[in-house]
Amino acid sequence: MDKQSVFEQVAQLEERLGEFYQELGSLKKKIVELLEENQTLTMENEHLRQRLETSEPAKSSGDELEQRGMIHGEGYDNLARLYHEGFHVCNVQYGSLRTEGDCLFCLSFLNK
Ligand SMILES: [Zn+2]
Repeated sequence: MDKQSVFEQVAQLEERLGEFYQELGSLKKKIVELLEENQTLTMENEHLRQRLETSEPAKSSGDELEQRGMIHGEGYDNLARLYHEGFHVCNVQYGSLRTEGDCLFCLSFLNK
């Protein structure tokens, strides 16, 4: 048996094992990141679900809009509700939270 060759094989195996452990370590890190992200998304989802369940479809303003003779559709209702819940429905900032009160883009979009 070629002792030198066996030794080389063991050394190579050791090196590969080292790489393997490194890869395992970085995979573990990725799993932790994914679990954290999953947790955040779960909480966010829960939060949004609660908002949807607890928020009555803005009744008064809905009636108000109807009185003003607007064209009504389910899509429109959803957008109007989203807007009243504080989200942008304009194509400028669609889906992001309205932080500075009414948005003229949203309003003009809803008034179309
Ligand atoms: Zn807007």
